[in-house]
Amino acid sequence: MVKAIALLPGVMLWREKFPRPEQQALLNDVLARLETAPLYRPRMPGSDKEFSVEESNFGPLGWVSDKSGYRYQPNHPVTGTPWPEIPPMLMGLWREIAATADAECCLVNLYRDSARMGLHQDKDEGDFSAPVVSVSLGDEALFRIGGETRRGPTQSVNLSSGDVVMFGGPARLAYHGIDRIRTGSSCLWKNSRRLSTMNGQSSIAVSTTYRPSLSAAKIRSLSGLGRDSKNSNALAAIARR
Ligand code: FE
Repeated sequence: MVKAIALLPGVMLWREKFPRPEQQALLNDVLARLETAPLYRPRMPGSDKEFSVEESNFGPLGWVSDKSGYRYQPNHPVTGTPWPEIPPMLMGLWREIAATADAECCLVNLYRDSARMGLHQDKDEGDFSAPVVSVSLGDEALFRIGGETRRGPTQSVNLSSGDVVMFGGPARLAYHGIDRIRTGSSCLWKNSRRLSTMNGQSSIAVSTTYRPSLSAAKIRSLSGLGRDSKNSNALAAIARR
């Protein structure tokens, strides 16, 4: 039984909650599901700038971002197909530590090389009573989390493969982000049977996040295949790698 470490009020960390064989099994499962819901680069609302992170989702609802804003929707914005189911290992973790209704969304963030995630709040959900749970797989990531103001004090922690972070309660709307990835610090991806379907690199870290119950009002629009030629090009580029 891995003991939880309290980083801040409402922020818990479990070091290597998933032992190595389970990390490998989970990574293989995640990669298999990504074959039907390929990673793509979302775009920033307003500026239309591409994220440095590649994303996809599992579960009934997926979080997406494009020029018109952030939202949850049941379909992949590039392929138009429903998201695959949340991997059983992740739902098992959710049921074990989140102690609430089943998660409805699992966001996959893939960080290659210099990809990062600026400080942000997870606030597109209809209900903040459930926490956010995140699992890291692969290279080490420098995670930063603070309070409910962007410029307030923050705390940084290195997340290694198999680590689990949960933030909820007083920290549910805490600003958080990924400052950098230590490329090559893990060989988990090198040993993945499915690596060839990605691109032969090992300099990757995946963070998987659950979202709580959402109101239907959060589902605003559905997009079909080819809606955005830049997204289609991005998908084609990923498929070629
Ligand atoms: Fe987040």
